[in-house]
Parts: sequence; C-alpha cells; structure tokens
Amino acid sequence: MKDDSDLSGAKAKDESILSGAKHSRRMRLAGKSIAPTDERAENPLIRREWLHRLARFFQVAGVIALFAALVSVVFASQRPAQVIALAPAPVQTILPAIIPLPTLIPTATPTPLPPLIGLLAGHSGGADTGAICPDGLREVDITTDVAQRAKNLLEARGYRVDILAEFDKRLSAVKRDYSPQAFLAIHADSCIYYASGYKVARADNSAIPQDDDWLVKCVSTAYAAAAQLPLHEGSITRDMTHYHGLNEIDPQSPGAILELGFLGSDKDALKHRRDALALGIAEGLDAFVRGGACQ
Ligand SMILES: [Zn+2]
Repeated sequence: MKDDSDLSGAKAKDESILSGAKHSRRMRLAGKSIAPTDERAENPLIRREWLHRLARFFQVAGVIALFAALVSVVFASQRPAQVIALAPAPVQTILPAIIPLPTLIPTATPTPLPPLIGLLAGHSGGADTGAICPDGLREVDITTDVAQRAKNLLEARGYRVDILAEFDKRLSAVKRDYSPQAFLAIHADSCIYYASGYKVARADNSAIPQDDDWLVKCVSTAYAAAAQLPLHEGSITRDMTHYHGLNEIDPQSPGAILELGFLGSDKDALKHRRDALALGIAEGLDAFVRGGACQ
C-alpha cells in the first residue's frame, strides 16, 4: 500500500505539477491572450506616430525643394545666358516653368540714316525776292516751289531733305559744319528774252573739285532731260562760282548751284512745268548719291 500511497502521493504530486503546469500554461496563455489585445491598442498610435513623422519629413523636404528652386531662380537671373545654356539639364527643365530663360538680345547694329540732301531755295527767307518780271513773276516763288517738289520726290526715294533759306542759320562760312551728302542751291535767271536755258556750276575754290564736277554733271544731265531746256553755255558768272552757299557748307560736302532757266524766255517751263524741273533735280541728285555714271 505504501507503494500505492507512494504511488498515489506521486500521482497527486504529478497531478499538482500537472495542474501547476496547466495553470502556468493557462497563465502564459492568458498572458498571450492579453498581449495581442495590447498591441492592437498600440498599433493606431504607432501608425499615427509614423504618419506624423512622414508628414514632417515631407514638410522639411518641401521647404528644401522650395529653397533650392528659389536659389536656382536667383542664380539664373544673375548668370549670363551663355552660362545658363551650359548649365545642367535639370536646371534648364525646371527654370522655364518658374521664369523664362533670358534670351540673348542681339546687339543692335545702328542702322545708318538715309542720305541727307540740302536744297537751298534761292532768295527765300528774306526781303530779297530775287528777280521780279514785269508781269509779276518772282524768282523766289519759283525756287521755293520747285525746291519743295524736289524734296517730295527725294523723300519718296528714301532721302532726308532739308530746304534751306538763302541765308540759313545752318550755313556758316566760319563753322562750315553743315554736311549733306549733296547740296544744291536753286535759282532762276533774269527776265530777259534773248537768252534761254539752264546753268549748273560748282565753286571755283572747291576742296573736292572732282566730286563737285561729278555732281554738276549728274544734275545737268538729268535736268536737261526732264526740263527739256538747253544748257546755256558760256554764261556762268562769278556770282555762281563764288556763290556764298558753296563756301558755307562743309568743304567735304559736294555742292553746286543751278539756274533753272530764264524768267523771260523760259517762262512757260518755270511757270507750268515745275514738276518736270523738280524731277530733273531729284533724278540728278539721286544719280550722284548712288554713284551713277550720269552720262
Ligand atoms: Zn537768284
């Protein structure tokens, strides 16, 4: 029985151990069963914490990206276009969305002004009207009108044209700083009927006689053709070759004086064919400035 009691004792012991093991197992199981419910309770907190961190990370990254964009904009606006052209591709691809790349402004080459032509309307702007015929025809009225018509024609061809008075302020024998590409003084001859035709002359003391002779030739050829008037040779007077205007322009500016015709015998042309006279002047000056042969 001892064995039995021993056995029963051992059995009881075993049972108690077993029950203890069972209990502790139950406890462990109970512990295990509590732990998942705790984790479930903590998970949203962890998730929220991570989301918070992630949001903060993106906030910081966003600020850095914005700062970098601003810095690149500042650099782009300060650096010359050539440097930007050589800058790495990302800068180029980002920049246009923010600010247009500065384009190379072509250095403006100054366009040369059209050639300037000076037309002096004989006897204009003063008390002296020049020749006055018995019928009232005045030289100054003809020279002023023909000069204006020639100016219109030359401007239509792209020239700048000044009409100067007989004693214009732009003319100075001292300064001699009026420098047109060509200068022509326009006068008309006396009211006589025994002579006919036009005359062109340059200054006797010309500093550029070849240029002045060429100008005379160009005006003479074109005027004869347009005005249908003969050249009145052999009557070029000292008044013409020592004309004050020719000694008041820049010595390097080609200049000449034209007598349109005689107020007497060439009256018809001077009164009624002024467009043709003006055309002859314009064509002669245009041919000279363009370097025409003027044959
Ligand atoms: Zn005159």
